[in-house]
Amino acid sequence: MLNIRIQFLKDEINKHNYNYYVNDNPTISDYEYDKLFAELKQIEADHPELITPDSPTQRVGSVSEKFLPFTHTHRLYSLDNTYNYEDLKSWYEKIKKEYGNDVELVCELKIDGLAIALTYENGIFTRGVTRGDGITGEEITQNLKTIKAIPLKLKDNVSLDVRGEIYMPKSSFEKLNAENLENGEKLFANPRNAAAGSLRQLDSTITAKRDLSMFTYTLVADGLKNSPKTHYESIMYMKEQGFKVNPNIKLCKNADEAIAYCKEWENKRFDLDYATDGVVIKVNKIAIQEDLGFTSRAPKWATAFKFPPEEISTVVESIELGVGKTGAITPVANFKPVQLAGSTVSRATLHNFDEIKRLDIRIGDTVLIKKAAEIIPKVIKVVDTPNHDTLPKYEPPTICPVCGEPLVTPEGEVNLYCTNPDCAGQIKAKIEFWASKDAMDIDSLGPSIIEQLFDKNMVKTPADLYKLSVQDFMKLDLVKEKSATNLYNSIQETKNRPLKRFITALNIKNIGKETADILAGEFGTLENLVNADLERLKELNGIGEITAIEIKNFFDSEKNINLLKELASLGVKPEAAEQAKSDKLKNKTFVLTGTLQNMTRNQAGDIIKLHGGQTSSSVSKNTSYVLAGENAGSKLDKAQALGITILTEDDFLEMIKEE
Ligand code: NAD
Repeated sequence: MLNIRIQFLKDEINKHNYNYYVNDNPTISDYEYDKLFAELKQIEADHPELITPDSPTQRVGSVSEKFLPFTHTHRLYSLDNTYNYEDLKSWYEKIKKEYGNDVELVCELKIDGLAIALTYENGIFTRGVTRGDGITGEEITQNLKTIKAIPLKLKDNVSLDVRGEIYMPKSSFEKLNAENLENGEKLFANPRNAAAGSLRQLDSTITAKRDLSMFTYTLVADGLKNSPKTHYESIMYMKEQGFKVNPNIKLCKNADEAIAYCKEWENKRFDLDYATDGVVIKVNKIAIQEDLGFTSRAPKWATAFKFPPEEISTVVESIELGVGKTGAITPVANFKPVQLAGSTVSRATLHNFDEIKRLDIRIGDTVLIKKAAEIIPKVIKVVDTPNHDTLPKYEPPTICPVCGEPLVTPEGEVNLYCTNPDCAGQIKAKIEFWASKDAMDIDSLGPSIIEQLFDKNMVKTPADLYKLSVQDFMKLDLVKEKSATNLYNSIQETKNRPLKRFITALNIKNIGKETADILAGEFGTLENLVNADLERLKELNGIGEITAIEIKNFFDSEKNINLLKELASLGVKPEAAEQAKSDKLKNKTFVLTGTLQNMTRNQAGDIIKLHGGQTSSSVSKNTSYVLAGENAGSKLDKAQALGITILTEDDFLEMIKEE
């Protein structure tokens, strides 16, 4: 029995190794892979007689045959990993027993990319090799030379090897996938696969076009005059020589401090522009590292704490249809519930019917889902569904799932729409949107209350919300006096929300919160906006002709005029916006990064807009300035590489100072 299970695990793991390392196309999540691996390791630990030299637990990675093989001068290992703090503590306790209480640790983010070994001779970059199976890798020097974070010449005339992780920034990955989607090319599952695919291109001009970077984390140098005595010193030495090292490295006194670091980064990592899948914890003193040595596949002096999975596979049980505030029909997949990045996930939007067709998702398929920075789960692709072809293809609906009216697809759009203005689905969605965080932000008015208010004929438009009394709320199921009062107060409190929120809440086609912000800043009051002529709207920065026409049409419609009048008569009067102070920053695009001292990044963004400038979330050649605070990350590096002017907070304040 055990033999059968072992063979099954070995075959599965080998299959996934091949998909992951050679094809750059994994078909299960890392978490599921790690579970299979941990099970095999446990069986082998309990029955050492069953360990064979070809077991995946005895080896690292895999080598493809695309490039010339190169035998590493020093082996490249993998890392043991764990998903729980207890294991981390007991790993440290064991080391402490042997080396005393003051064994220092170094914590580093575990960059989710590909390990690479670089060789420098007399300060010159001469060779770069992938990790491969740890003993032999692929020589990809030419491709690596296209990566700006890899110095071609070091500060000193030294000979050494370093190891590090090649990665693709998340923003560049999203861009690459968007381009590939447009060109009908293969989409990468995640930034790691995109980095691997980009690096192992036979044509290095393709690699050069991809935005890759590298963090260096290991120094292998026998012949240095003053070789570093600790891992931390070696990182600083590499930095001095011109390598890019991760700024978030931390020296810790003990396991508790290391655990605190892991906890700190479990959520903070979503703010980074590169993917991390855990924390690597290493013994700081090189002498202890040397004494501890290695197992067949990993160092004993280091371990990886892995964050809860961001990707996992599950089965699509049904596809549900929703009607949005614009009448767009949105398909939502219901899954067999799974644990993903700390919460139970049972549904995810599939966006539109083109997306279902593109991914060929059928009810009964196993799909890979992920939860990245966006927090919202997303379906990446169909995986491991042997009977996929026998499942019926998904057919988009032809009538509205709520009101039964026929659906239409306007020219140039991919969505299906219900155009019935009295569709209950649409009306409820509009009111939900009115109450949402980005719009009027009405605390505690959620979908189930709105549903009841609509079904009981109490609310048909946003204005109706402001007519409700405490007693009205008490007519709803499960609403007692206290929550009825809360609901009443939280609606009344929104009567004087800032103009930009009010404009967002109106749900004008193409007007999201960014454009609403521009309109509020430009016109100051609702009255000015309502009376704005088309020419003036068209001239506004960030608003095209089509949007200008949508705005005009919206305020010309009798139905909307009546809604605004009714809202005003109920006392809903948005607060006037602060109007532009100057056009000093006109045509200038800023990217904000790092922590500012005197203001938040949002506040800085508001100031920029008040002076006629714009902000953007990613650095490109169109960026005018990067305003960098403390702990600025990859955006700063990219700005430096592109030669974009970098401003400190003081430079910025000086720039906008009143004459
Ligand atoms: P690993 O990724 O768990 O850990 C070792 C690697 O971590 C090193 O080789 C290095 O590349 C990297 N690393 C990142 N930051 C580092 C730092 N600061 N210091 C040191 N190393 C750092 O191990 P692996 O052997 O590269 O890959 C095994 C893992 O890959 C599995 O645990 C699994 O998560 C994933 N995998 C997934 C599949 C799949 O089908 N989904 C298949 C094979 C492997």
